[in-house]
Amino acid sequence: MDSTPAKQVSLPPAPHTQHPDGAFTSPQHIRELAEKADVVTVEIEHVDADVLAQVQADGLCAVQPAPGTIKLIQDKYLQKQHLQARGIAVAPFAAVPEHPTHEDWQTLERELGMPLMVKSRTMAYDGKGNSPLKSLAADDVEQTIKTLVGSAGGNKLYAEAWAPFVKEVAVMVVRNVAGQVRSYDAVETIHKDSILRVCFAPLRVSGGKGMKSEVNKRAKELAESAVATLDGAGIFGVEMFLMPDGTSLSSLQAFLTRTLDPDDPSHPAVHVGALMINEIAPRPHNSGHHTIEACETSQFENHLRAILSLPLGSTALRVPSAAMLNLIGTSESMTPIEDACRAAYEVPGATVHLYGKKECRRGRKMGHITVTGSSDAQVRERIRPILDAMPDLAK
Ligand code: ADP
Ligand code: MG
Repeated sequence: MDSTPAKQVSLPPAPHTQHPDGAFTSPQHIRELAEKADVVTVEIEHVDADVLAQVQADGLCAVQPAPGTIKLIQDKYLQKQHLQARGIAVAPFAAVPEHPTHEDWQTLERELGMPLMVKSRTMAYDGKGNSPLKSLAADDVEQTIKTLVGSAGGNKLYAEAWAPFVKEVAVMVVRNVAGQVRSYDAVETIHKDSILRVCFAPLRVSGGKGMKSEVNKRAKELAESAVATLDGAGIFGVEMFLMPDGTSLSSLQAFLTRTLDPDDPSHPAVHVGALMINEIAPRPHNSGHHTIEACETSQFENHLRAILSLPLGSTALRVPSAAMLNLIGTSESMTPIEDACRAAYEVPGATVHLYGKKECRRGRKMGHITVTGSSDAQVRERIRPILDAMPDLAK
């Protein structure tokens, strides 16, 4: 497609007219690309991993990360089983039978508690594929099935215990072909309706500097140990839940009504407890976008270094504080996005990134804005006028 964002990038040795033009699930086009390339990588996991394995086995090109890793991650249920079997903490989960009966849901309620987070096993992204189930009332169950399975059916589901987290945390981990591993400092990610809206770097936690560095250290260790169970080189985004101290997973807390107001104590005065993994992305990730402006080496450069057998670049923050705001479509109109960009152009330390997607749609990521500053307080102050220009984020 000529309108595709990547086509807008045209480097002299490979003008865009030479790009294979096809779906990333098309075996024929994957082979065509593999024949031209030394190494093929992905920026989305919903590709045909079997064909990637085949082109690698046929010696056409290297594929990073390993096709088996991409295939495993495509199915969130298998991904969770894989992590759990290797002793990595994840929220309790269970498969949902294909045509679940009321008794099946009751069994899930007994095992996992209520509410449940019901998820599509495959093809899920940006919250599309999640449906919170608050009760086993027929209407609620029907709504969940309708949202996730649709009329076409055939979409396999699984359920997770609700995680009443204090906050969500993410760590980008990069590993090169030689096995060198580096991770970026943990960031705080704030989601609304299961989609990432705002990301703060570094992490903010109550309990002072000591607690902050303790959580950062633990998050990096957990993320690195999770990535160590996966084959292949590249960057990985590891999403985690930071649980309150002593919380039982099935108890629903008041955190569900969190707001996005940066001045809100979104770091509530609870003692932070365990970290557990939500999911892993085998590619550059939204919680690493701030690294372009905020870190010594961006996640994109480090991904390329990793798959090209080069030494990894420093992952250190080069600014004291940064925030990343996603520009998400509210309708087919680009106007609200443009309003937010205009507000950002007035803000010192703000950088606008628009992805050049042809059509704006509700829930579609159209770009992001990074704001850097000399302190967390300054960044909070700087993002306020931009947030004010994003009415869908208003409290
Ligand atoms: P996606 O593939 O769309 O990113 P995730 O599985 O990461 O889907 O879920 C998106 C968001 O939904 C999470 O970042 C979190 O805010 C919320 N979420 C997911 N799983 C749970 C859970 N078990 N309990 C509470 N919230 C959850
Ligand atoms: Mg996610």
